[in-house]
Parts: sequence; C-alpha cells; structure tokens
Amino acid sequence: DPRLKGISDAIRVVPHFPKPGIMFQDITTLVSNPKAFKDTIDIFVDRYRDMDISVVAGVEARGFMFAPAIALAIGAKFIPLRKPGKLPGEVISEAYELEYGKDRLEMHVGTVQRGDRALIIDDLVATGGTLSAAIRLLERVGAEVVECACVIGLPEVKGRCRLGGKPLYMLVEPR
Ligand code: 5GP
Repeated sequence: DPRLKGISDAIRVVPHFPKPGIMFQDITTLVSNPKAFKDTIDIFVDRYRDMDISVVAGVEARGFMFAPAIALAIGAKFIPLRKPGKLPGEVISEAYELEYGKDRLEMHVGTVQRGDRALIIDDLVATGGTLSAAIRLLERVGAEVVECACVIGLPEVKGRCRLGGKPLYMLVEPR
C-alpha cells in the first residue's frame, strides 16, 4: 500500500525521550498531517467496515487519537480503556507489567455486553503487555475480541502477528 510510506514518514522520532536511550515514536506529527492522518484512518476503516465490529476500544492516551474516528466511520460504539482512577462509574481493572513496575487499565462495566464484537486500538505495540490487559478486560464482560490494531509495531512483535491468541494488525515499523 503506497500510503504506508507517507504514514511512516509523518511519524517523528525523538531520541532520548522520555529517558536516555529511548527512540520515542511521536505520533503527534502524524495526526497533525491531514493527509497522513486520513490515510491512517482510511486503512483501518477499509479493513474493519465489513467485519461486524460493534465496539472499538481505545487505549489511553494515544489510542484515543485514532479509535473514535474509526468507531464513527464503521458505526460502532467507542469505549475508553483508561488508567486507574479516571473513570467515574463502576469499573473492572486489569494489571500489566511495565519495564519497571506495574500499571493497570480500567473499563466501565455495562457498556460492553456479551456478544459484542470488539476491535482494540492503540498507537504502538512493544511488548504487547498493554494490549493483553485490554483483551482481558473485553473478554471478562463477554465480548469477542476480533483483532487488536496499532499504527506502529516493533518488528519483534510484528513477527508474531498474534497476541494472547488474538490477531494483531500493524501498519508500520518504528522509524
Ligand atoms: P507495550 O505494553 O506493548 O510494551 O507498550 C505499548 C504502550 O507503550 C502503548 O500504549 C504506547 O502508547 C506506549 N509507548 C511505548 N513506547 C512508545 C513510543 O516510542 N511511542 C509511542 N507513541 N508510544 C509508546
């Protein structure tokens, strides 16, 4: 797909952010480029419009920049998966490992029901820990996770193409 090069080129690499040695993939330059941003959303929408997806779950915070546009275009509900303590209603919670320590993702109960077909969106997958926690949240309320999708996938993960038994779809590798 010729659009992928434009998408990759629009991602800025910021060396040593947020820590020395990290080559941070900055997608703010992607979403501020109307052509590259539209191409990104279009590719996802073309892939998912006929897959009978009923819910698109976005992972805080950068997944929120892509998931709502996809949800609107395919006629699915959007739900936010958030960091602890942000959602006001009743939540369920799943922990995941970070490089140093642990974090959690939370989801409101009641919005997603048994029988829902879910797509999970984040900007980047590295170890897959974040998306694995997201999969567990959706499955706990009886949803079927159809696929996880990210803009950027590390080659290690890209080789796997699956995550917790679920298909994983990625557009580009880190620059
Ligand atoms: P994982 O759980 O797969 O190891 O890490 C994925 C999470 O880390 C995603 O939520 C993603 O937003 C964040 N992340 C880690 N490194 C980067 C990076 O270089 N750029 C961006 N945009 N996000 C990153």
